[in-house]
Amino acid sequence: MPGYEIFGDAERKEVEEVLETGVLFRYGFDQLRKGRWKTKTFEEELGRRIGVHYCHLCASGTAALTIALAACGIGAGDEVIVPPFTFVATLESVLLSGAVPVFSEINETLCLDPESLKSAISPRTKGVIPVHMCGSMAQIEDIRKICEETGVILIEDACQSFGATFNGKALGSFGKMGCYSFDPVKTITCGEGGAVITNDRNLYLLAEGYADHGHNHQGNDRGLEGHPILGTNFRISELNAAVGLAQLRKLDSILERQRRNKAIIKDMMSGVPDISFRKIPDEKGDSATFLSFYLPDEPTARKTASELAAAGVDGCTYWYDNNWHYLRQWEHIKQLQSPAKLPMMLLQERPDYKKLHLPQSDAIMSRTISMQIKLSWSRQDLDQRMEKINKVFKQC
Ligand SMILES: *Cc1c(COP(=O)(O)O)cnc(C)c1O
Repeated sequence: MPGYEIFGDAERKEVEEVLETGVLFRYGFDQLRKGRWKTKTFEEELGRRIGVHYCHLCASGTAALTIALAACGIGAGDEVIVPPFTFVATLESVLLSGAVPVFSEINETLCLDPESLKSAISPRTKGVIPVHMCGSMAQIEDIRKICEETGVILIEDACQSFGATFNGKALGSFGKMGCYSFDPVKTITCGEGGAVITNDRNLYLLAEGYADHGHNHQGNDRGLEGHPILGTNFRISELNAAVGLAQLRKLDSILERQRRNKAIIKDMMSGVPDISFRKIPDEKGDSATFLSFYLPDEPTARKTASELAAAGVDGCTYWYDNNWHYLRQWEHIKQLQSPAKLPMMLLQERPDYKKLHLPQSDAIMSRTISMQIKLSWSRQDLDQRMEKINKVFKQC
């Protein structure tokens, strides 16, 4: 997830253009801003690049998810199905919206298992948020069909897979709404930022209004704009959007380098006995931010992860023990520890996450290691990396 590796003149120029005008706000100030609309331009270019009609930039990926849930009318008491392997933000947005997260298993795609999803759907299920983890995709077409058949609203968390596609169609564009993050470690970054995308004009209008205190952005005078709905402030600033705009224009070259580096290291590692690779529903569409592989069992995986780190093979994660990405370590969610009085706490009947048992997900996550793919790797870096990896696997 390498956008930060390639900051340069383009990002600097965009930011300087904003600083020259002094207009850091995305709306209004028409005279002062000298025709510079970084957020609006980013939205237009992103919509075109991804192939969707509407795109709204916001403060973060977490904000994007929260906005999408609100625009889709998902909230108090509704159930939303989520995978246990994601960044914790997916859960946070569901909880903040007032809805109840319901966990469903992942499969060897490292994403939501369509079969498990089917059995998790209840009469209270209003939405499902599959998460396209680690640069690659869920079985999104199967999931979309299930949603269509059951009337459940599909919102995609594509925060980790910006630029990835399934059968040529952008991840994030299969559901009613899709969400991206441009936080500091994502494929492209703007410091803090996110986007919600949709092809539905009405949902777009609700989203962009909700993210700016319910304003409808009609007319030229902000003081006289209508505010037909309640909302909040999830806006992005022009400074962040300026960085993101420069990064977006580098997306194709980022993907190309990532895919090339991943293909080389994957090819080298295919000779290693006892590992198998993550199942990727459409290899061509993989954004290639990570190479994820399975070890035969939990002890071997844990031992391998620590030996890879000791051997200086950086950027490898054993998610099963990681605090941020897998339910197993989320005591705060299991105990519902929050300074906020969450609507879910008021429910008489609610799931007890402490008792939650997800054997299929545990069996997969306990054997998984992901290696981050860097843009800056030279052929020599890759050869040296492989030498270290080979040594580790010979010892095991
Ligand atoms: C990064 C991320 C988010 C949240 O994005 P922020 O911009 O950091 O708020 C949500 N979901 C997933 C899967 C992520 O990786």
